[in-house]
Amino acid sequence: EEKRSLNFIEQIVEKDLEAKLNDGRLQTRFPPEPNGYLHIGHAKAVCMDFGIAQKYGGVCNLRFDDTNPIKEDTEYVDAIREDIEWLGFKWGNIYYASDYFQQLYDFAVRLIKEGKAYVDEQTSEQIAAQKGTPTEPGKESPFRNRPIEESLDLFERMNKGEFPEGAMTLRAKIDMASSNMHFRDPIIYRIIHTPHHRTGDKWHVYPMYDFAHGQSDYFEGVTHSICTLEFVPHRPLYDYFIDELMPEGTTYRPRQYEFNRLNLTYTMMSKRKLLALVKGGLVKGWDDPRMPTLCGYRRRGYTAQSIRNFIDKIGYTKYDGMIDVALLESAVRDDLNKRATRVSAVLDPIKLVLTNYPEGFQETFMATNNPEDESAGQHEVKFARELWIERADFMEDAPRKYFRLSPGREVRLASAYIVACTGCKKDEDGNVVEVYAEYLPETLTGRSDSGHKVKGTIHWVACHNAIDAEVRLYDRLFTDEDPSSVEGKELEELLNPDSLKVLTNCKVEPFLKDCKPGDNFQFRRVGYFTPDLDSTEDKLVFNRTVSLKDTWKK
Ligand code: ATP
Ligand code: MG
Ligand code: MG
Repeated sequence: EEKRSLNFIEQIVEKDLEAKLNDGRLQTRFPPEPNGYLHIGHAKAVCMDFGIAQKYGGVCNLRFDDTNPIKEDTEYVDAIREDIEWLGFKWGNIYYASDYFQQLYDFAVRLIKEGKAYVDEQTSEQIAAQKGTPTEPGKESPFRNRPIEESLDLFERMNKGEFPEGAMTLRAKIDMASSNMHFRDPIIYRIIHTPHHRTGDKWHVYPMYDFAHGQSDYFEGVTHSICTLEFVPHRPLYDYFIDELMPEGTTYRPRQYEFNRLNLTYTMMSKRKLLALVKGGLVKGWDDPRMPTLCGYRRRGYTAQSIRNFIDKIGYTKYDGMIDVALLESAVRDDLNKRATRVSAVLDPIKLVLTNYPEGFQETFMATNNPEDESAGQHEVKFARELWIERADFMEDAPRKYFRLSPGREVRLASAYIVACTGCKKDEDGNVVEVYAEYLPETLTGRSDSGHKVKGTIHWVACHNAIDAEVRLYDRLFTDEDPSSVEGKELEELLNPDSLKVLTNCKVEPFLKDCKPGDNFQFRRVGYFTPDLDSTEDKLVFNRTVSLKDTWKK
């Protein structure tokens, strides 16, 4: 692995450990809300939370931030666990914010008793309208100074399910004139009657993020609560509730640190929008290979290593920005170049007949599995008189710099002979249906210089044992560089109509017969591919992971 300088969070952690802050412990958490699948942005947080604990001998726990039963489901819990493991990380414990519902409720009751929280019977719209602006103080709720007993009674009854959703909320009584908007009596509990995926109908009040996150950190013993920059303005409130929680005379406290979130060009990462793509049938599911989800990338053939390398390369800063998706693709190429087995596949086949090669005869040649890795070995390929080649590798009237097959020109067939093109056969409409050439026996790859010099090498698959395959070519899902910022358009209108192209008549070498999803191949001259989950023994289906070169243009 490449050496890089410490990022600013690592610098903070090193300093804190050295100063024996929190007894020199390092404990982090990754806190996903189980309301969707993990995407590449989450991977950035995963790599930070787990990676930094690993690097400094600490522990990172997985905490499901399941405080909103309306959107959450165990399907997502399971998928999140699988994706973190796939990325290559191990948690210490698994926790659920819902495990703290009683503690949080008790804490809220304590705040009410201390005159630091009250039940507000206004609607959330009324409350929002009284918030004020950053330069003007907000207006106090008419319920702000109601008797403590009244709030206690109402809060208890809220939780028993006596009131409809939206009828009242519990608010922290802090400061309606604070320069920090989050201090203007934030709502800390709301009524929800939807059953929770873990606690069922036990609770009818649910804590808001700001009332759950820091406290959960505190209950677990988190030392470094690392999150993204949009939580910077929440930090004073985070600290406020921790101050309220800490018993007098104790020193342990979790601290929040923020880094820039990942934004990628041509990519949308809001879980809400990703869910809309799935629900609207605009993609084939959360793991559609065009999705920016980890399961989508996995299905497409991205390796966990390439995603980790990418995250490491872009680093962590205190400034938001946009990362070119080409950088991710290039990390995938670099990794696959090292590990992918080279094979031949013809995506748009046309038959090449070697007219001077004996009929019924076969030769066996050895193809190098990976020129980047000698230990990967070789595999056999059969050569014969009739071969599939790419339609684009023949041109009847070719320009001077066309170094492939054209009457009178010579080209090398990869791992085999140089052949000299003699002509072609056409159908009634003038379409080329067969290409003819003569092989030059003295030019077999690896033999001493035959005196023939060719500029081009093309790939091929022998017709007699080729396997049929379907190949799915993917392109960017969105046409706009920053699809999240486009206004006034439906999601559907933002999609790239050519994001999926299916080729059903491809020919691949028999070596691929038993390949499985997760195997990585380079189809010579074409790109990197992996078997799709739809692939079966009888019908091979491949996904293009990424092209060989970045050929994408605006
Ligand atoms: P969304 O806004 O799509 O709902 P979220 O941030 O609410 O995503 P969570 O499940 O709460 O999703 O996220 C878990 C963790 O992942 C949080 O700490 C969050 O900051 C982090 N995270 C989410 N998106 C990104 C991103 N694009 N880049 C870096 N970290 C992210
Ligand atoms: Mg969130
Ligand atoms: Mg969110």
